[in-house]
Amino acid sequence: MRPTRRELLAGAAAASLSAPAAAQIITRPADVAVVGAGVFGAWTAKKLQDAGRRVLLVDPWGPAHARASSGGESRMTRGAYGADEIYTRMALSSLDDWRALSRTAGLPLFAETGVLFFFPDRDPYALATIEVHRRLGLPTQVLERAEMTRRFPAIDSDGVALGLYEPQFGVLMARRAVQTLVARFVEAGGSYLAAQVLPPEAGQGRLNRLRTADGQTINADRFVFAAGPWLPRLFPDLLARRIRPTRQEVFFFRPPAGDPRFGPGQLPGWADFNGGDLFYGMPDLEARGFKIARDTHGPVMDPDEGDRGHSAEALARVRAFIARRFPALRDAPLNESRVCQYENSANGDFLIDRHPRWHNTVLVGAGSGHGFKMGPAVGAYAAALVTGAPLSIEPRFSLSSKAESGERLVH
Ligand SMILES: Cc1cc2nc3c(=O)[nH]c(=O)nc-3n(C[C@H](O)[C@H](O)[C@H](O)COP(=O)(O)OP(=O)(O)OC[C@H]3O[C@@H](n4cnc5c(N)ncnc54)[C@H](O)[C@@H]3O)c2cc1C
Repeated sequence: MRPTRRELLAGAAAASLSAPAAAQIITRPADVAVVGAGVFGAWTAKKLQDAGRRVLLVDPWGPAHARASSGGESRMTRGAYGADEIYTRMALSSLDDWRALSRTAGLPLFAETGVLFFFPDRDPYALATIEVHRRLGLPTQVLERAEMTRRFPAIDSDGVALGLYEPQFGVLMARRAVQTLVARFVEAGGSYLAAQVLPPEAGQGRLNRLRTADGQTINADRFVFAAGPWLPRLFPDLLARRIRPTRQEVFFFRPPAGDPRFGPGQLPGWADFNGGDLFYGMPDLEARGFKIARDTHGPVMDPDEGDRGHSAEALARVRAFIARRFPALRDAPLNESRVCQYENSANGDFLIDRHPRWHNTVLVGAGSGHGFKMGPAVGAYAAALVTGAPLSIEPRFSLSSKAESGERLVH
């Protein structure tokens, strides 16, 4: 009988940890050690494995755990990125990988709900998105207000000038997707080690090994660090001022019993540009509730110690928005709230680059609140950097392009 994912992960972790804890254990040498089993690390590990490398994936808390940025219930995937065509292309190229992974899972990982962005005016972001999507041949539909109201009756479109509907995008079941991916990686012969890597010590032009908090040594030819909001802790000199984790609050509300307007058949993933104060949300998937969040960056947050309870202020804000935009949910009971952290670069661009002093080490992160959907494309790019070089090097992903302060430009 095929082992379950839980058995595989537990087995892999236990095998690595079964020797006496006091001794210094040297783990089986790997071609590449990947630190961090969030969406970026897991896809990088999988893409390296697909390229024939022996890969060790290391994370003390498990894939997409409760405090990881990838650990939420759901994440939106969309192609609307204004003039930032690079992210449209990455979102698009990732869809096939997500679909293929979903076919291997017991429960679906991708809900093709469609995605609707709407704007109070003919926003330059909307116009640029239309231009890019036309050029790429995407089936994105431009909706006038009356059409939007007819098709999406849950939304009060008062003050909306324009909607963009992307039928082939939707919602990824985030935590389940990363857990499934790591299970497939382990089934295909990848190694998983449940251990916390210590900040690496300086090497002469290269990194030679890693040490873990429980006294193990990890040897590999090459290393990838995909530690999300923990990256600044592993590389304080390089990243403490370049990646800023912020506190983000997410809410799930109970829709009226049996009301189809809030289900995935009728309500797409959505975002209201709302004059610059952007709110976004998702339909009631798997009966979790109607999801809603404000996209504005919250205060700086420690991913281990930060308080995970929601604030009364954030709840009041989403309730006020709901009363205006989704009036049928005005008094809906709160099912659940979650506090997660974005790990932001100054302008919202990702970091995927070699370490400036260690040629055999790659840094991957700064998903900046929009990276999940692009996990497969990020993993492919990072794997290409590890094994040689991608076909074209993208300056926007470089460490040198990462400012210590600035305005968020990617939305
Ligand atoms: C509330 C919220 C909503 C979002 N919505 C969307 C969305 O709708 N669409 C979208 O595309 N993106 C969205 N994002 C962004 C996306 O989720 C993140 O960009 C992405 O999950 C980041 O993944 P990661 O792998 O870099 O980090 P993480 O998922 O945080 O993974 C990092 C991993 O590194 C491990 N680690 C840390 N330190 C060590 C160590 N010393 N040793 C070993 N392992 C270590 C951690 O345990 C963790 O598992 C959202 C994010 C949040 C918080």
